[in-house]
Amino acid sequence: MKIAVIGTGYVGLVSGACFSGWGHDVVCMDKNAQKIASLERGVVPIYEPGLDELVERNFAAGRLRFTCDLADAVRGASVVFIAVGTPPRAGHGDADLSFVYMAARELASLIEDNAVIVIKSTVPVGTGDIVQKIIGSVRKAGSFSVASNPEFLREGVAIRDFLEPDRVVIGIEDDRARDVLTKLYGASLDLRRTPIVVTQRRTSELIKYAANAFLATKITFINELADLCEQVGSDVSHLALGVGLDKRIGTSFLNAGPGYGGSCFPKDTMALLRTAQDHGVALRIVEETVTANEARKRRMALKVVDALGGDVEDLTIAILGLTFKPDTDDMREAPSVPLIETLQRFGARIRAYDPAGIENARQVLSDVELHRDPYECARDADAVVVVTEWDDIRHLDLASLKAVMRQKILVDLRNAFEPGAAERTGFRVSGIGRPTVA
Ligand code: NAD
Repeated sequence: MKIAVIGTGYVGLVSGACFSGWGHDVVCMDKNAQKIASLERGVVPIYEPGLDELVERNFAAGRLRFTCDLADAVRGASVVFIAVGTPPRAGHGDADLSFVYMAARELASLIEDNAVIVIKSTVPVGTGDIVQKIIGSVRKAGSFSVASNPEFLREGVAIRDFLEPDRVVIGIEDDRARDVLTKLYGASLDLRRTPIVVTQRRTSELIKYAANAFLATKITFINELADLCEQVGSDVSHLALGVGLDKRIGTSFLNAGPGYGGSCFPKDTMALLRTAQDHGVALRIVEETVTANEARKRRMALKVVDALGGDVEDLTIAILGLTFKPDTDDMREAPSVPLIETLQRFGARIRAYDPAGIENARQVLSDVELHRDPYECARDADAVVVVTEWDDIRHLDLASLKAVMRQKILVDLRNAFEPGAAERTGFRVSGIGRPTVA
């Protein structure tokens, strides 16, 4: 198949590269000329394990091209994926669909007859109907299809998630879209492991939000249980295992931490709430999840202040891990940002280390000394705070870390170290949902 992907970010680039790996002829298009120029030079502009090689291989084989020219991208394409961003609209919380609608308007007159336009971006229910109208205003009804195919990949393991997804969801309103998309995925996925859920377009759109809201709720649930564990002397990691091994519950997304962040959960839960409000429906559990998560992110700063005896003025705090999770350079809605800003307001000096997020962190943080070496970052610090559980950080030599610090205080917001390991090295440790080891 000839496939065009509009929007070459985390989702568009991974999807395009994987489709080309399946043998399709793929053109990835983006308005960002710098991004396209970088890809044409063979430099992948985002950090995603395995993506460089996948892009390089398929680019070299001539199956994957990059362009800023939409007409060039969609020429001859039977399928056009829209994978542009849908960020939260400032001050409103609902999704900003201007990039999706702009892409639809621009491609309307350029697509081939019978092309299937597939919305891969996360969009509120009913967006497909509007895209259908936009394209329908310049094209004959029936000469194109608009489908929904939400993406569930996780940054950091995006390629595996794309190639071996738990399921593929396809929302269609006509047979052409059903045939094209079930053929595209059905020909390359192991259908014994990956069910394809074919449904109406509106249901498909809502599935993505429901899935993210459920996962955000699961994280928030275990975070609240972690607070209780701290009060009653229980260990939340064991609790999560004991609970999660029940197959009806599952062990994933039961890692207690500083609150969820990232480019999806915060914005998608808010957008779902807006949709529900617009339709007069109360999603109380999601509302509580959003409120509890926001409060938790702010409370994490108080945990650090407590660990330092109640006052951080003029103290130096080393933050280990800045990105919203390991194995990505993505800083969008990272819990490290409100934590750092709050500690700065309390008068602390902040130094920070991250294996891949330094460049993006520079755009969102100010007055933070950024380090590429964790031990340098911890030098003369009064406390280190683990915010992102990168493997590099989990495997730090605690004795060497302690040796360069002024006060030996570790606040482990991810339970990155084995219980007792840091205490045995001589640290005073404050973890999440764990009894304090004397
Ligand atoms: P991103 O910001 O990394 O990439 C979006 C790209 O679209 C940018 O490069 C931007 O320049 C480009 N763009 C915007 N308007 C354009 C236009 N009119 N024509 C061409 N290019 C245009 O975003 P992302 O993280 O890849 O997310 C894309 C969508 O996928 C969002 O709706 C997001 O919610 C959803 N999603 C993201 C993830 C994730 O982990 N990042 C996972 C699942 C779903």
